[in-house]
Amino acid sequence: MSAGTMLAGRLNIETKEFTLSEVPIPEPGPGFVRVKVGAAGVCLSDVHLIQGLLRPQFLQGSEVTLGHEAAGTVDLPGPE
Ligand SMILES: [Zn+2]
Repeated sequence: MSAGTMLAGRLNIETKEFTLSEVPIPEPGPGFVRVKVGAAGVCLSDVHLIQGLLRPQFLQGSEVTLGHEAAGTVDLPGPE
C-alpha cells in the first residue's frame, strides 16, 4: 500500500464483485473531521446494496465502499 492510500472493502453494484481496494485517504472539508475507523459493522443497507435493492443516489462510477456504520477516533479536523 502506498503513502496516502488506505484499504477499503468495495462492492461493484453492477457486477456484485467485492474487492479489497487501495483508495486515496480523504481530506476533510470545511466543518468536517476525518475519522480513523477502528471497526465497522454490516448494516441492512449493505445487504440491500449486495442484493441490488438499493442504489446509492450520488455514486460516481459503479463501486461503493461498504460498512458505513463505523466507530473510530478523530484523525484530522478540517478547516472551520
Ligand atoms: Zn446503516
